[in-house]
Amino acid sequence: MEILLKTQQAFFQTHATKDYHFRMDQLRTLENVLKQNEEGLKSALNRDFRKSNFEAYTTELALTYKEISVAKRNLRSWMQHQRVSSNLINFPSKSFIVHEPLGTVLVIGPWNYPVLLLLTPLIAAIAAGNTVILKPSELPEHTSAFIKKIISENFPEEYIAVVEGGVETTTKLLELKFDKIFFTGSSQVGKIVYQAAAKNLVPVSLELGGKSPAIVTPSASMKMAAKRLVWGKFLNAGQTCIAPDFVVVHESVEQEFLKACQKEIENANYSLENNNYCQIINDNHFDRITKLIDPSKIYLGGNSNKEDRTIAPTILTSVAFDDAIMQEEIFGPVLPILTYKEYDQVLLKLAQRPKPLAAYLFSNSAKEEERFLNSISFGGGAINDVVMHITNPELPFGGVGLSGIGKYHGASGFYAFSNQKSILKKANWLELPLKYSPLTKQKLQWISRIVKF
Ligand code: NAD
Repeated sequence: MEILLKTQQAFFQTHATKDYHFRMDQLRTLENVLKQNEEGLKSALNRDFRKSNFEAYTTELALTYKEISVAKRNLRSWMQHQRVSSNLINFPSKSFIVHEPLGTVLVIGPWNYPVLLLLTPLIAAIAAGNTVILKPSELPEHTSAFIKKIISENFPEEYIAVVEGGVETTTKLLELKFDKIFFTGSSQVGKIVYQAAAKNLVPVSLELGGKSPAIVTPSASMKMAAKRLVWGKFLNAGQTCIAPDFVVVHESVEQEFLKACQKEIENANYSLENNNYCQIINDNHFDRITKLIDPSKIYLGGNSNKEDRTIAPTILTSVAFDDAIMQEEIFGPVLPILTYKEYDQVLLKLAQRPKPLAAYLFSNSAKEEERFLNSISFGGGAINDVVMHITNPELPFGGVGLSGIGKYHGASGFYAFSNQKSILKKANWLELPLKYSPLTKQKLQWISRIVKF
């Protein structure tokens, strides 16, 4: 691994990756490689957790293509020196920012969207001019192996390399002195990555998880809230970092909301055979999620099939904030419903919890919306929808507090892998005498006036 890092560092030192045409060619190559290997990727995802072709395309490939096209369209303007105004004390001068690549970066991916969440950071790293070592999650083994195959066949190792493996491999990689580590995964492992990076003062982006809440107020359209929440919760069988983890609904509309959710779930008719559901990734996660289901609180679902690793869409009611299921990220198809009486109380309760990756409000009241935005902190989210904010590359994506450090997607991704090198360029036809001896009282007066401009 150390040799691989050195090889990449040597290639980076040739400055080849900094050239606009080089970056553009690599983005085009990646796009073509993905298009040519779409069937292979879909089939690998299907073998790993029975992800359907429809979901593989919409939730993994389509968003990856979008990110490539945004990068291609904006690459020239992102790379341009960014002019900013100069201050009077530096007269006569120009000021500008050079976006330089960080160097050799490590991208560690999670298992739940193993293509999208490994390749979106890769696209940003290419656009920013870095060399990249990718470490896919070992759990979707077919997808990991397929990505390694197509990357190694189409990119030289000194530029982009895939290192497969689990904890042991990642631990070794983390000991190396990269110029950046971009990690997507759980908050627990995020802490390990942060500590390892700190030893070498390596900058990090940590894209973590958390319990993302959804609030449903009486002013919301119950039918629409149920439709969108059910879709976002059971997509990928609940194994989505920004899935609504739990719902807090006003007690006066709870029954109406529950009935609407039940109807949506029945209409969707989720199953592997219907290609609108997928398996839980492995037995450990299957056991972990089924243990979270309290049989006395099941409103709908609750049944599971260990052989198939499937858990039926499940709704739990009468859930309280101190129940076991409310202490950890569920990351599965179980939706606890809590109720509230006072809107301010629920906002206060949520504000006291760790900051989540996402939060959602279903409401048709401008006042409720404003209080939601002002009183709780979260990475990003939606009003009257769930999950879909991730599809807009204009919106920086990432967490805050326990749900992560740093944002990416579109321009934010380019900046996440760049150093903003700030340059002051001085002209030679004049030099203000103010900072030079003799240091008089009069000069000090001038400085105190000028420094404000
Ligand atoms: P994970 O933290 O278990 O694993 C992520 C990566 O870390 C994998 O590549 C794995 O090999 C590696 N890893 C695991 N244990 C390690 C250790 N002890 N030392 C070093 N490396 C180790 O996460 P996961 O189970 O793959 O993904 C689920 C979690 O990721 C959830 O919490 C979810 O919310 C979060 N997530 C966040 C985002 C986001 O964009 N913010 C996206 C997807 C998933």
